[in-house]
Amino acid sequence: MVIKKSLIWFRKNLRVFDNLVLRESIANSDTILPFYVLDNKIYADTIYGFKRQSDFRLNFLYQSLENLKHNLELMNLSLNIFSGDSFEIISFLVNKYDITDIYYEKDIAYEERRLEKKLKTSFLNVKFHKYNSNHIFKYDLMKSKVKRLQDTFTRFRRTYEQDFLEADKECININFEHSTKLIKLKSEDINLDLTFNLHTNLESLKSQTHVISDTRATFLYEGGEDIGLDRIKNYIWNQKSIKRYKRTRNGLMGRNFSSRFSAWLSLGCISVNHIMHEIEKFENEELKNDSTYWLKFELLWREYFHLLYGKYKSKLFFLKGPHEREVEHNLDEEICQAWISGKLGVPFIDANMISLKQTGYLSNRGRQNVVSYFVHDLKQDWRFAASYLESVLVDYDVYSNWLNCAYITGLVATEKAHVFDVNSQAEHYDSKGQFVKHWLENSDLS
Ligand SMILES: Cc1cc2nc3c(=O)[nH]c(=O)nc-3n(C[C@H](O)[C@H](O)[C@H](O)COP(=O)(O)OP(=O)(O)OC[C@H]3O[C@@H](n4cnc5c(N)ncnc54)[C@H](O)[C@@H]3O)c2cc1C
Repeated sequence: MVIKKSLIWFRKNLRVFDNLVLRESIANSDTILPFYVLDNKIYADTIYGFKRQSDFRLNFLYQSLENLKHNLELMNLSLNIFSGDSFEIISFLVNKYDITDIYYEKDIAYEERRLEKKLKTSFLNVKFHKYNSNHIFKYDLMKSKVKRLQDTFTRFRRTYEQDFLEADKECININFEHSTKLIKLKSEDINLDLTFNLHTNLESLKSQTHVISDTRATFLYEGGEDIGLDRIKNYIWNQKSIKRYKRTRNGLMGRNFSSRFSAWLSLGCISVNHIMHEIEKFENEELKNDSTYWLKFELLWREYFHLLYGKYKSKLFFLKGPHEREVEHNLDEEICQAWISGKLGVPFIDANMISLKQTGYLSNRGRQNVVSYFVHDLKQDWRFAASYLESVLVDYDVYSNWLNCAYITGLVATEKAHVFDVNSQAEHYDSKGQFVKHWLENSDLS
């Protein structure tokens, strides 16, 4: 009998609860080796000179990995955390431990797909098992439909909303079969000739990040499945803030004006399936209203952008977008710097940009305004804005970020540019000027 030796490759699914990859790999393997790679690329700079991942993002990632390691240890499983080149590390593991199978979460982002392709062509005898459990619509199932996917959200919603709402949301509880053995990696296995590292803990990496909490922040993010699960429980069940979501969701600051689920969703510390399950449970047991519906509606946007990314892929990163539309594309260094540091002299935009820089988070309303202002008023290249948000946002998600920026610019999922009048937006959403005051006071701290 062939012994099935599997790698469990954690990617954007840093959780134990409702983790299909984990369940399938345990259920179908004789021996397993769970691992995660902190790829060199995440420490690189962008072409614009800022870090590809800010310390906010790195810190949130390290916290999430620590929590995953802890939760796996409770199941007598250990997580091996490497840093280095993903291809090199996976090749090493496959060869050293005679790996027969690799289980992983599918990711359709450009670099991730390239890596997957390279691995498949290099290891023809290894079986690759991919799953998509970070979305309700499974990309593979939708594949034929993706090509014909509607180019506006409204049309997409008309066709698919019912399927989205009616999809099975049963969550998976994992039991570790003790008949499955664990491949235990020893640090002496990683000899000095190798160009990557195995981390027994993340302390030294964490000490290289400098996240100073700004006293003006109204919500503190901490990575990891446990905190993410607590947030679902608190927002939906304990505080019942979901009841008012539709009314409060355009808020600019505070703890509960919106769900804050995005940060944990972005690394897969929680699953969208689980969130939807809890919303529906709340609707059945407590209250169903336009707010409970609206939270699901926003999660449908997330699905839409994921699928639309699958349709246009790398064309979404082109200046003119997939439909070759005319756009402004200046890149004035002074203007870009003033936008980043909140020194444009436009209070509503400056306050939003300072809060982003100081906390790694910005409300949805804030994101729409700062990008619109950058693209339509300052007439700068939209990709700079998208890259800067990518660097800083603690909840960065390639599909949601790049597609929202392209949408506001007027390049995709829309027939027109979305131009926000900053003065009337400030008047409407910050009528007493509290948000601006909050962030522009003591601005020498920024
Ligand atoms: C320019 C710009 C960039 C953005 N970049 C990101 C990003 O990198 N990562 C990210 O998760 N979201 C992004 N969004 C979408 C949205 O702003 C955030 O999801 C939201 O502000 C996160 O806070 P929340 O979880 O409290 O949202 P809530 O209002 O509570 O919404 C619940 C969930 O619905 C989803 N959602 C809500 N609005 C959108 C939207 N417009 N597009 C896609 N999904 C949505 C998110 O998963 C969110 O967690 C961006 C929006 C804009 C305009």
